[in-house]
Amino acid sequence: KILIIGSSNTDMVVRTALFPKPGETILGGSFLMNPGGKGANQAVAAARLDGDVRFVTKTGDDIFGQQAIQGFLKEGLDINYSKITPDFASGIALITVSDSGENQIVVASGANMDLNPEDLPHAAFTDVDYALLQLEIPLETVEFAVQKCKEMNIKVILNPAPAAKINDDLLSKIFLITPNETETELLTGILPDTFEKMQQAAEILLRKGVQHVMITLGKKGVFLHNENTQETIPAFEVEAKDTTAAGDVFNGALITALSEGKDLKSAAVFASKAAAISVTRLGAQSSAPYLNELQ
Ligand code: ADP
Repeated sequence: KILIIGSSNTDMVVRTALFPKPGETILGGSFLMNPGGKGANQAVAAARLDGDVRFVTKTGDDIFGQQAIQGFLKEGLDINYSKITPDFASGIALITVSDSGENQIVVASGANMDLNPEDLPHAAFTDVDYALLQLEIPLETVEFAVQKCKEMNIKVILNPAPAAKINDDLLSKIFLITPNETETELLTGILPDTFEKMQQAAEILLRKGVQHVMITLGKKGVFLHNENTQETIPAFEVEAKDTTAAGDVFNGALITALSEGKDLKSAAVFASKAAAISVTRLGAQSSAPYLNELQ
């Protein structure tokens, strides 16, 4: 079983010609509401590729939370350990996208920031081989979950997004870390824009006790580094329409492949393929492909 612990949000997206100035009201264009949040995106991506996913998240007691939960059930996620809190609103992201393709985003994390260590009972970790976490929930909860995984011999994949500093003790317990370029720079001080700098950045993380490093490089592919190999796996060539959630689909596919026994390199190729399909479509969760589309 795969365990994914993380955020759930509702993205509310309005198209606009130009952004309003402070105090200004403007008439925008179309409105779309999409399920999002890194945790939920990764869980749905894994489930669509036939991963056996237990997803632990927290929503508020409101229509956004209810709608998110309906979606998780439809995707076949095991959400028996997810919770609804009356104390916070469900997580939402207010997004405006301008005609030039730029965006402005305000996230109100709400219930996601109330996902506490007490919400993670021992039973949530049973029968799990691999766990996947991101940084859209309290760091304390991530640290607790990673420690618990270590005690229970569960391999942890950490997608350190959104970019944040994390301590060496946490890193020392990670099986595989999957930062993108900006996250790599924040964690190591090195922007991985050449092969040599990718190696240097990965070595810093390996020295801190991470067992394997995969730096995702957008359309340039993935850099894989562990004690056996240092190589770049090229991305699949596609016409990108919307790269939102490329990293989320990559991580969800990656954990599915690893839990099925694929080695790191084959898992990275599988994940690159899933992510490449997702960037050819609009949206976050809605762009995640199903297994038959990869075959
Ligand atoms: P994030 O979305 O977290 O910033 P990346 O942009 O590095 O992450 O994308 C994650 C993975 O998705 C990449 O390693 C690659 O495999 C795939 N990907 C992203 N953008 C493209 C693209 N334009 N074409 C093909 N694959 C892509």
